Amino acid sequence: MPATLVAEHVTPAVAPAPALAVGDLSNGERAVALYASDLPNYYRYQRGDNALLIAWIIQGANRVGMDRLRRTAALDAGFRRSRAAKRLTATQKWAQSERFPDTKRERRAGELAALVTLSAPVSEEARKRGLRFLLDGPCPECGDTRQVWRSWCIDVNADWYEEGYGPCFLCGGQA
Ligand SMILES: [Zn+2]
Repeated sequence: MPATLVAEHVTPAVAPAPALAVGDLSNGERAVALYASDLPNYYRYQRGDNALLIAWIIQGANRVGMDRLRRTAALDAGFRRSRAAKRLTATQKWAQSERFPDTKRERRAGELAALVTLSAPVSEEARKRGLRFLLDGPCPECGDTRQVWRSWCIDVNADWYEEGYGPCFLCGGQA
């Protein structure tokens, strides 16, 4: 009786990383991924293009890698937060231009990511991550002391304010 060779399924020692889903990415991460993707600068959005945009998002995310994607999105969020507070430092401006040398593309990627997010939900975990931010260099408001001196409203009805140190409004007073 001939020996029978049985082809066995070999389980790889390292399981391949699960495919990335767009739902696992926050809106900010989607924008960074689009910026890093093959999305052409001349691209014009048309109805029904969501699958195409999502494919670019996945491409960009895989290209950048999740760790760097998350960090870049968080630093971008910190930049926007500081800009909204009119507290941008030279360090932040420089770092932002290093991250996104093409400002027009960066703005466009943000608009397109927002369009995708209208119809492609963000997972709870990614949504929470999207609320976090990082700052380039020390906090422009408190210089990383995490506290600012200001007048705090104790009771708005009683018009009661007190001055003192409290958590920095820009960095959230977190180390
Ligand atoms: Zn601060």
